[in-house]
Amino acid sequence: EAKERGRGRVEVFDETLRERARARLQLETELRTAVDGDQLRLHHQPIVDLSTGDIVGREALVRWQHPVEGLLAPGAFLDVAEESDLIVDLGSWVLDEACRQGRLLTASSTRTHVAINVSARQLGRPDFRRRVENALATSGLGHGQLILELTETSLLKAAKSTLADVDALNRAGVRLAVDDFGTGYSSLTYLQKLPVGVVKIDRSFVADITTDAKRRAIAKAVISLGQALQLDVIAEGVEDAEQAAVLADMGCRQAQGYLFGRPTPFEHLVGTTTGS
Ligand code: C2E
Ligand code: MG
Ligand code: MG
Ligand code: MG
Repeated sequence: EAKERGRGRVEVFDETLRERARARLQLETELRTAVDGDQLRLHHQPIVDLSTGDIVGREALVRWQHPVEGLLAPGAFLDVAEESDLIVDLGSWVLDEACRQGRLLTASSTRTHVAINVSARQLGRPDFRRRVENALATSGLGHGQLILELTETSLLKAAKSTLADVDALNRAGVRLAVDDFGTGYSSLTYLQKLPVGVVKIDRSFVADITTDAKRRAIAKAVISLGQALQLDVIAEGVEDAEQAAVLADMGCRQAQGYLFGRPTPFEHLVGTTTGS
């Protein structure tokens, strides 16, 4: 009898796995349609100067307007995209669209920038540099207005040829940011080897900055490091005025977070009358 029950359990387990695999496959198929079709959107979140409150740039964040599920955040689909090659096409769409929208959003202040997230797989493509150049040329966005956000992990994984591409882009004015700084295998060596111009302090450090002395110390160290290496330091995930004050006190000059603005659809930012 015990054996019977055991077997039953194995079958139930199998069933769950099969169901999961099926759901994943469906998600992948749907995402393919979304990327090829017209279901991806960009939301833009402001990055501000902590002392003046001025917007210095915006990060473009991808969303999926799913026909049934509604608006999905990247957490719901990026893993699937990363595990297939979909991330490359998705990334190309983001690149082109962020440059196009960014050109319009920065029309009145060309000193502001547009930041996009680049995945390791996208970065590693031999045509990555050409695609970036192409997106800039087509949109009219300046090289100096584009920031490419990469994680520590993808920077460490990057091949020599990739780094040469990134170097060339940087010499033309495109800046590189290390995203989620402090959460990866923080090897500080790449900060001197690579043309990194911006470091983004991960939001986990900011969240506890007023209560956790260790995390505050790490944030402070990153800010000092940024000053020493002449990098722009952006604090991510600033949600309240107290966090902003602590960061400003530590010498952090730029921040991003719900306190200053939520990620907002492009259409809302340009208003309803500018649609052409
Ligand atoms: P990220 O690049 O670190 O982006 C910041 C994330 O923090 C965004 O989540 C943003 O909505 C969220 N955030 C901003 N301010 C606050 C705050 O004050 N509090 C809290 N709790 N969260 C805040 P989102 O849009 O869900 O994106 C998650 C991640 O997905 C991004 O993290 C980035 O790694 C990835 N991602 C987003 N768009 C793209 C894309 O176009 N391509 C690639 N490859 N990855 C993307
Ligand atoms: Mg980012
Ligand atoms: Mg981040
Ligand atoms: Mg993140």
